[in-house]
Parts: sequence; C-alpha cells; structure tokens
Amino acid sequence: MSYQVDDKGFYGEFGGAFIPELLYPNIEELQENYLKIEKSEEFQIEFHQLLKDYVGRPTPLFLAKRLSAKYGAEIWLKREDLCHTGAHKVNNTVGQILLAEKLGKKRIIAETGAGQHGVATATVCALKGLKCIVYMGEKDIERQAPNVARMKMLGAEVRPATSGSKTLKDATNEAMRDWINNPEDTHYIIGSVVGPHPYPDMVARYQAIISKEIKEQMQGLPDYVIACVGGGSNAMGAFYHFLDDPSVKLIGVEAAGLGVDTNKTAATLTLGTPGVLHASRSIMMQDKDGQVVEPHSISAGLDYPGIGPAHAWLKVSDRAQYMAVTDADALKAAVECSQMEGIIPALETAHAFSVLKDLDLNPTDRVVINLSGRGDKDMDTYMRELHL
Ligand SMILES: *Cc1c(COP(=O)(O)O)cnc(C)c1O
Repeated sequence: MSYQVDDKGFYGEFGGAFIPELLYPNIEELQENYLKIEKSEEFQIEFHQLLKDYVGRPTPLFLAKRLSAKYGAEIWLKREDLCHTGAHKVNNTVGQILLAEKLGKKRIIAETGAGQHGVATATVCALKGLKCIVYMGEKDIERQAPNVARMKMLGAEVRPATSGSKTLKDATNEAMRDWINNPEDTHYIIGSVVGPHPYPDMVARYQAIISKEIKEQMQGLPDYVIACVGGGSNAMGAFYHFLDDPSVKLIGVEAAGLGVDTNKTAATLTLGTPGVLHASRSIMMQDKDGQVVEPHSISAGLDYPGIGPAHAWLKVSDRAQYMAVTDADALKAAVECSQMEGIIPALETAHAFSVLKDLDLNPTDRVVINLSGRGDKDMDTYMRELHL
C-alpha cells in the first residue's frame, strides 16, 4: 500500500486538480517543476540553511515528565511552538518562497482565515523582498486585528474579500481570481496540504522536516504520533517519515466544536462525505445538496470544512486514526499543559493533548505529540473562556 501521491496527483480516490481551464498554465508549471526544484542541491542547501538560522530548527523533542507520570507513558513534545513566528506554518512558507524565486516569480499572493498563514507568508516575503498580497475575509479582518497589524508591519497588503460569508472560503476565491489574472509573475502560497495537486504533496514535503527530525531525535520508533488537524499540514509533517512504519500508530485530532452531534462542529473526517472542495477531491462537511456546511471551532486554525486529500486516504485505508475533541475539552487540555509543563499551547494544539486521556497507554509506550504552535495568539480567547 502506498500513502504517497501517484503521478496523477491522487491518494487512492482522493486528490487531483479540479481546476478551471484558466488555471491550467499556472498549475502545470508547478506540477512540472516542484519536484525538480525541491530535489536540486541548490534548493536543499538554501532550504536547510534558512530552517536552521531563520526558523530555528531543529526544534527540540522534549520529554514532558509530569504529563508522562500522569498518563503512565513517555510523553514527548515536538516543539514547533519554538519556530520563528510561533508555529509550524513557516516551514511551508520558507519552502514555497524559495520555489517562487527559482520560478522567477516577483509577486506573492496568499489566502488567510485567522491570519496565521498570512503572517507566515508576509514574513518570508519581507525576507526575500517580494511583493506580498494577502486576501482575507472582511469579517476575519475585523476579528483578527493583531494579525492584520503584523502583516502590515511586515510590509504586506491585506485585501478584504467582501463577497459571500466574508471569511476564508471567499478569500480563497479572490486569491484564485488574482492568480488567473496574473499567471506570469505571481506565485500563490497555499497554507496547508489542501488545494489542487501538487499543493498537498508539495506542502507535505516541506513540513516533513518535522518527522525527519523526530526520527533522528528518538533513536528508534515511537509508538504513537499525535497531531491536531485543520487542513492537515502539521499532522502530515509529523506523520510523513512514519507512514511506512506500521508499528507507529498515527492519530489526527480534529475539532468537534460544541460536539459532533451538534451543527456547530468542524469534525470533517468524523461527519463528512466525499466531495470536491478547493479544487481537490477529499472528504468535506456538506448538506444533502452538496452545499458546504459552515464549520465551527473555538480555534480559528481548525475551523475548516474540508481536509487534505492525503488524510482522507489515510483514514479510508486505516493507516491513521482520527478523533474529535470539543472546545471545552481542548480548553481543559490547554490549562493542563500550561500548568503541568509550563508551556501555553495554541488552541489548535490543545486538541491533540486532549486525547491522551482516551488512549490505552502502557508504561513503555513512547508517545509524540506535535506541539504545533504557541498560545500567545489565543490569549484573548483563554482570558474570556477561562475568566483569567
Ligand atoms: C494553522 C494551525 C493549525 C492547523 O493547520 P494544519 O494545516 O492542520 O496544521 C494547527 N496548529 C497551529 C498552531 C496553527 O497555527
């Protein structure tokens, strides 16, 4: 069984590139070049140099002793929260900015929901002196003022998407439209393992540095790797080099919101059905008529009605297991991690911690949790919800 993308861009029945004809030239240029560029010595040298000196890699693998004692197993934390800009997202934007440079692109566009991917994109554009335009729903611009300010301070232009629900979906449409109109000089940096082929594979390859380092740092295989799943990029990065090690149990944790039996949830793999979203076939939350259902999660980064096609395939083929955690349980886990290890996690990450209580762990088990980001950006929510 292969868990890698095939030469047509599919993971089993999922993936592909369901794009309007006007996007063919842009997508074909990427499909033809992304592997060649990634495998070139020049790219590899610069990518690893930047990951080391700019992002701060390798990130530590930390043995969380108090959590280990509580849950009766070795709990190891992969510290992506220590990356420059505070989360794993920058691994991908560093890779894509180098790709854009090699393709001779001078202008970068991106879409963002909560603003985290917008900030990671604005960061690498400043680093390289490239023009940066971030599309963001008008409603999200109001809700995420600090990230809008960060993007502006980094020199990016934030363009509001004013159609539809004025959120991520509409920002994505605007970015696509821009790309169609500017195929020559523009590269579109997508922020997760979603979108048309080759994005899911390309982003997975840039994030795979996470599992490459875990494998080296562990000296031997872990028994579990656990990561939260929005679009699925930090999970894919944490799983990547363990996909062909069947003894390693892979667990993705999605957001149940108020609960999987309510209509305020983002538990895509638990509740969704196959369909095409953002130009690839995967599993998504939709109603009987195929209309996308508005997702809900307390964490903006998991508030997405779809999931990357590779995760749909890992679930259907039983290679990975997916669990759903509610807003309330994620908050409890965030407090526990903060007060037992002195690490305030991002709300997204807190979902991954919450499943520790539900696993049947043995004292000799080695569990890795991918600590995808730090909680500074979530302090407003923590203050409100926890009455701090
Ligand atoms: C954006 C984000 C996520 C969710 O995105 P994935 O592509 O699923 O990784 C998870 N954790 C943090 C800290 C984020 O910023």
